[in-house]
Amino acid sequence: MTQSENQQNALTHDVIIVGGGPAGLCAAMYCGRGMLDGLLIERGLPGGELLNTDLIEDYIGFESILGRDLAEKMTSHAKKFGANIVTDTVESIERREDGDFDVTTQLGKVYRAPAVIVTAGGTPTKLGVPGEKEYAGKGVSYCAVCDGAFFKAETIAVVGGGDAAVEEADYLTRYAEKVYLIHRRDQLRASPILQQRALENPKIEMVWNKVVEVIHGDDHGVNQLRLRDTNTGGQSTLSVTGCFIFIGFIPNSGVIKGHFEHDAQGYIITDDHMMTSIPGLFAAGDLRVQLTRQITTAVGDATTAAIAVEKYLTVRKEQAVASSP
Ligand SMILES: Cc1cc2nc3c(=O)[nH]c(=O)nc-3n(C[C@H](O)[C@H](O)[C@H](O)COP(=O)(O)OP(=O)(O)OC[C@H]3O[C@@H](n4cnc5c(N)ncnc54)[C@H](O)[C@@H]3O)c2cc1C
Repeated sequence: MTQSENQQNALTHDVIIVGGGPAGLCAAMYCGRGMLDGLLIERGLPGGELLNTDLIEDYIGFESILGRDLAEKMTSHAKKFGANIVTDTVESIERREDGDFDVTTQLGKVYRAPAVIVTAGGTPTKLGVPGEKEYAGKGVSYCAVCDGAFFKAETIAVVGGGDAAVEEADYLTRYAEKVYLIHRRDQLRASPILQQRALENPKIEMVWNKVVEVIHGDDHGVNQLRLRDTNTGGQSTLSVTGCFIFIGFIPNSGVIKGHFEHDAQGYIITDDHMMTSIPGLFAAGDLRVQLTRQITTAVGDATTAAIAVEKYLTVRKEQAVASSP
């Protein structure tokens, strides 16, 4: 079928949720309870970053739970309240002239709805070195708040030189005995106040002009990093049990067509109903501008977004009735 035939045959719903991580599943659960005809489109298995997380100890109500177990619980909870989940990759979300949205997928489907909640998360930038994938969740981490407490009194490394790396290195010293901050240059990019705090912290030792080449470990997890000097090419090693990587995070907001307000890193700006600058388009979770990115914040955003969608649809229906002849 051609694109225009697909559009003519568009499948209509009250709301379409893009992404099936904690935010998307929570939004689907609330939309179901609100008796909305919702459709959740997820490109992989539902669960999002929970599926890349080993142990979670900070989701209130669960003192300790495996990421995949929480993902399963969230998925079955959403389905219990009628979540309709399809496996497909969203390629574009576009607002039509009549105010509805066309959501086009890789399988060539066009889904249409007056409201869309984008919960597509984001992707931490990887170092792309041997050992990174192998030891993810076994010493390699991209989240200090999530994993810092597993490194009490240990020696760990943080990689990066921007605000996130420097702030998180400082944060991690509340648990770790020592934190090496590894940066490829001889000065940090982070804001002066964060730099000052880190440089004055006796538990932080700067490792200038170095990049991580290999992350080594054994059955217990990470135990050593192999470094390369960016000036001399010389190699060295660092004994650590953790390697926190903060070299960037890319929000998955590129599927939205047309202009929407975002910050310099591409995170979506919303109002306090989680509505973006495009009327009817809501955003929740990790791809939204916010102070911290956690499971609790993702589901909190999603709760607000789903309830705001209900109200948005009611007002839209009332306006349609009022303006009909
Ligand atoms: C390694 C790691 C450990 C963490 N540990 C913790 C922890 O212990 N505690 C805690 O509170 N937080 C933790 N976090 C953070 C937490 O996982 C995130 O804040 C949370 O998952 C955000 O939920 P989300 O739904 O916004 O996004 P995500 O979980 O990223 O879900 C987004 C979903 O959207 C899907 N998607 C993206 N693009 C498309 C598309 N075009 N079409 C269809 N589907 C799409 C993705 O496949 C994904 O399933 C951790 C994060 C990482 C990376």
